[in-house]
Amino acid sequence: MRARILQASTSEVYGDPEVHPQAESYWGRVNPIGTRSCYDEGKRCAETLFFDYLRQHKLRIKVVRIFNTYGPRMHPNDGRVVSNFIVQALKGEDITIYGDGRQTRSFCYVDDLIEAMNRTMETADDFTGPVNIGNPGEFTMIELAEQVISLTGSKSRLVHLPLPADDPKQRRPDIALAKSALGGWEPKVPLAEGLNKTIAYFDQLLSER
Ligand code: UDP
Repeated sequence: MRARILQASTSEVYGDPEVHPQAESYWGRVNPIGTRSCYDEGKRCAETLFFDYLRQHKLRIKVVRIFNTYGPRMHPNDGRVVSNFIVQALKGEDITIYGDGRQTRSFCYVDDLIEAMNRTMETADDFTGPVNIGNPGEFTMIELAEQVISLTGSKSRLVHLPLPADDPKQRRPDIALAKSALGGWEPKVPLAEGLNKTIAYFDQLLSER
C-alpha cells in the first residue's frame, strides 16, 4: 500500500509574520504560549511529523499551507470574518471589526483552493511541499466590510471590538511555488465574485430559518 497522504496545513504556521508576502522558505513568527498557540504550534508539529515520516518511512506526503478561504457551506456561527460580516450585513446587525480593522488578509474562493489541492495530489512523489495555496489579493478588514455592505446593500454600521491576542497584522501568500509546481495554477475567482456567491448561499440559509 503506497497511498499518498495530504496534510491540510495553514498560513498560521507563519504566525504574525515579519516577512511579507510569506514564502514557504520563511520559518514564521509564532508565539509558543499564547491563546492561538495550540492551533498554530499543533499545525507546525503536524508538518514536522509528516517530514519525519517522509525521512524514516518514505511516506508519500503532500503538505499544503492553506491561507484564508471562504465560500458557500461555511458555518454561519464559526466566527470567521467573511461569514460573520455577511451574516451581520444580511441581518442588518452591526459589523464587528476587531481592532482598528487595518490588519490584512488575502481571501481565496473555495473552488480555487480545491483545484490547487487536487493538482497537488497529482504531482510526482518528489514534490512534497510545503506549498502555499491562497489568493494574493490583500485587503484590510475595513475594506472587506465595505465590500460586503456594498454587495448586500445593507444598512449595517461598523463597530470596533477588541483585537484578539496575537492576531496577525498582515497576511498574503507568495504563490510562485504553487504556480510552477501545479501546472500554472492561480486563483481565478475575484473577491467580489466569490463574495456574491457566498452572500447568495447565506441569504438562502437564513431564509430557511
Ligand atoms: N475579524 C474581525 N471581525 C470578525 C471576525 C474576525 O475583524 O467578526 C478579524 C480578525 O481579528 C482577523 C481577521 O478578521 O484579523 C481574520 O479573522 P479570521 O478568524 O477569519 O481568520 P484568521 O485570523 O485565522 O486569519
